[in-house]
Amino acid sequence: MEPVIIGDKLYEGKAKAVYATGDPDVRVIKYKDSATAGNGARKAEIAGKGELNRRICSKIFTMLNNAGIPTHFIRDLGEDGQLVKKCAIIPLEVIVRNVAAGSFSARFGVPEGAALSRPTLEYCYKDDALGDPMINDYHIKALGLASDGELAETARLSFEINELLSAYFRKAGLRLVDFKLEFGRTPDGIALADEISPDTCRLWDMETNAKLDKDVFRRGLGDLAGAYAEVLRRISG
Ligand code: UDP
Repeated sequence: MEPVIIGDKLYEGKAKAVYATGDPDVRVIKYKDSATAGNGARKAEIAGKGELNRRICSKIFTMLNNAGIPTHFIRDLGEDGQLVKKCAIIPLEVIVRNVAAGSFSARFGVPEGAALSRPTLEYCYKDDALGDPMINDYHIKALGLASDGELAETARLSFEINELLSAYFRKAGLRLVDFKLEFGRTPDGIALADEISPDTCRLWDMETNAKLDKDVFRRGLGDLAGAYAEVLRRISG
C-alpha cells in the first residue's frame, strides 16, 4: 500500500482533527485525548482516549463496510489516524435509541433504563452556538438542510446500523442503549461519516448495567480510559 502523505490540518473539532492528503478525495482523521461534555462546558485531557476511540471506531466501521453499509471509512493507519473518503457533512446529528436514557429520559420523564417498545430516531441541528437543538423533518426541509430522499435514506441506514451494532455489541456482553450518527454527501450518494465510539454511544454491561461510555466522564463516575479499554477488549475477544 502506498504511504499516505498527511498534509494541512483542515478542521479541528473537540475530539478529532481532519487533515488533507495527497489525494483531494481522501482525508485523514486523528483522534485527540480531549474529552468534553455539556457542549464544551466540562473539559479534560484523558491519556489514551484518542487511540482507544480510533481503534474501537475502526473496528466498527470495518464491520459496517463488510455488511454493505456505505461509509466514509477506508482503512486504519495506526497511530497516524484513519483514512477516510472526503464528504460534505450534513449538519444533523441522527440519534437512535433502544432504551431510555439521557436527554430522552429528562424530556419525557421516562426512567433511565426503561426499554422502548421499538427503536426511535431523532435529529439535532449541529450548531454549537445554538447548543445543537432538536429539529424535526419539516424544519430540516424548510431550512434546506436535507432533502426528502436524503432523510429517508439516512433513517433507513440508521435503523439498519442499529440492528448491526446492537448484535455486534450484544456478542461483547454490551447493551447498545443509544448512539449518534452523522452522514455526509459523496459523489456516490449518502455515506455514514464521523465516528462511532464510546464517546457517541451509550454502552451498558449486559449483566450489571455498568456504564462503559462517555457518561463515566459526563457524570464523574471514574476511570474513562479504563472503561473504553474494556470496550475494546470485549469487541476484540
Ligand atoms: N451524543 C453525541 N453527541 C452529542 C449528543 C449526543 O454523541 O452532541 C450521543 C450520546 O453519547 C448518546 C446519544 O447521542 O449516546 C443520545 O444522547 P442524549 O440526547 O441522551 O444527550 P445527553 O444526555 O448526552 O445530553
